[in-house]
Amino acid sequence: MHLRGATGGYFNFLVGLRIMGAKEIKIRIDPERCKGCMFCVMVCPKKVLDKDDKVNERGVQCVIVKAPEECIGCGLCAIMCPDCAIEIEKDQVLGDR
Ligand code: SF4
Ligand code: SF4
Repeated sequence: MHLRGATGGYFNFLVGLRIMGAKEIKIRIDPERCKGCMFCVMVCPKKVLDKDDKVNERGVQCVIVKAPEECIGCGLCAIMCPDCAIEIEKDQVLGDR
């Protein structure tokens, strides 16, 4: 599952989310920065990311979050991205969900 943000503006992100133990992991991909090189897809050990079927308004097949429930929060995708298009955020979850 992936959620696509509204187009345009700073908050134009593709966001994936999973709850891992007491941590909440958010994967944010900024399609304004993504150039579709797929380095992140190649390095992800859990096959969380994939190439979008569609071409965006910049003519790029951006990366999408295909399986957020598989993400272990290792951050390899964000480290490898040459355009700083990926942000991994791990928040402590307070209380039960
Ligand atoms: S590594 Fe960065 S620029 Fe390349 S496809 Fe992934 S998010 Fe896009
Ligand atoms: S943080 Fe690790 S497991 Fe999660 S999407 Fe990135 S490379 Fe894959």
